[in-house]
Order: sequence, then structure tokens, then C-alpha cells
Amino acid sequence: MILKIRTEGDPVLRMKAEPVKDIDDDMRKLAADMLETMYDAPGVGLAAPQVGEAVRLVVIDVGDGPEILFNPEIVSCSGEVVDIEGCLSIPGMQGTVKRAAQVVVTAYDRFGRRLRLMGSDLMAKALQHEIDHLDGVLYIDRAYDIEPVEEDQEDHDEQEES
Ligand code: ZN
Repeated sequence: MILKIRTEGDPVLRMKAEPVKDIDDDMRKLAADMLETMYDAPGVGLAAPQVGEAVRLVVIDVGDGPEILFNPEIVSCSGEVVDIEGCLSIPGMQGTVKRAAQVVVTAYDRFGRRLRLMGSDLMAKALQHEIDHLDGVLYIDRAYDIEPVEEDQEDHDEQEES
């Protein structure tokens, strides 16, 4: 089921999301719906607050298959990269953001198994962007500059939003 993506100004985007205590069928359904919503948008990542649920769940697919992460935490990061970012909750805009180049994240998968994940490049960017959403932080809080996405860029779908 495709869910409605909340946009900037919706208070849920500024809430600190609650940890998921039970990874049950309702949570797995939410994760599946979030993936469907993300692919439909299209985007490379989506956090539960973006669909109105203030819980610590993110989904990501940067082209290597879907990742469903419950209670994700960044346990280490290294390097630095400055790149352009967009967000499905702030349509039509993009900004330049400094992020860690590599991150290590721990989380639980949809069966409640603990996992550890290393991300670099777009995956590192998506992980940081989505985990920020769980703390009510939007990329515009970190961006050096924010500007409208140019028409031709939008047509070519070059921008990865999350
Ligand atoms: Zn976002």
C-alpha cells in the first residue's frame, strides 16, 4: 500500500521517533508499505516519520536491494564528503550537505536479528539522512545552501531523494 509522504511543516517530521519494541507483523507491514512508497516516489530511502509514524524504522535501496532497518544507530563514521541532497518531504529542492564518507550502523532486521552494516558513498549518505529523520532533523538544517531543483535535472531523474 502506498502511503502519503508528509512534507515539511508537518510536526511529525520534527519529532524524536520512539524505538521499536516489538518487530511484529504490523511493523513488517509498515516496512513493506514504506518500501512500496519509496519505490513509487521514487526515492532511495524513507524514514517512518515521513509517512506519519514516529518510530525508529528506515528503509533504503541505493540499487543494491532493499534494506529494512529497525532501531538503526550509527556506531562509527569516518571521512568527509560534501554532496547534493534532496528529500521526499521537501519536494523540488536540493541542498549541499557535508556528511561522513563512511558509516557503520547497527540495527535489527525484520526478523529481529541484530545486524551490522557498513556504508560508503550513496549508502553512507542515505543512512545518515534517514537516521537524522528519526531525530527530527532534516537535511535543510545542515545544508550550506538550498535551491530549487532545475527542470531538466528533474526530468532526467538524476537526483536521489530520501
Ligand atoms: Zn528525507
